[in-house]
Formats: sequence, C-alpha cells, structure tokens
Amino acid sequence: MRRAPAAELAVVDLQVCDRCGLCLPLCPPEAIHLEFTDLVVDRSACTGCRKCVAPCPVGALSMVPA
Ligand code: SF4
Ligand code: SF4
Repeated sequence: MRRAPAAELAVVDLQVCDRCGLCLPLCPPEAIHLEFTDLVVDRSACTGCRKCVAPCPVGALSMVPA
C-alpha cells in the first residue's frame, strides 16, 4: 500500500553539511544518500519524520513544506 504523501521533507544545506555521514543510518526509509561527495535527500522516499534534523552536528538539515 502506498503511504500518504509527506507534509514536510528534509532538505540539506550543502554549504553547511560537512559530509560526516552521521545522518545516513538515522533515516528509517534510507532516504539520505551520499552521491559522490554531496549529501542527497530522496524526496520520494523521505517520510518527513524529522529524525535526521536534530542529530546533525552542524544544523545542515531542515524541514520544508512538501
Ligand atoms: S549529519 Fe549533517 S553534516 Fe553530517 S552528513 Fe548529515 S547533514 Fe551533513
Ligand atoms: S525526515 Fe525522516 S525520512 Fe526524511 S530524510 Fe530525515 S530521517 Fe529520513
């Protein structure tokens, strides 16, 4: 069954992200990936759970309306 669309999505500020990788295993649907050297949030996989936002040591992740 398809899940309901997320109300919010996580976005990463690549000017701030230091590519530490800490957030990758924190994302339940594995929506966060490192592609080459940049962090990418898969918008179709993010459920808007916010579990990645607070743990980021440099505050690079935030939520935006979907
Ligand atoms: S935890 Fe923050 S700084 Fe580390 S890879 Fe994720 S977004 Fe970037
Ligand atoms: S909000 Fe949740 S689902 Fe979306 S990228 Fe962050 S941890 Fe993953």
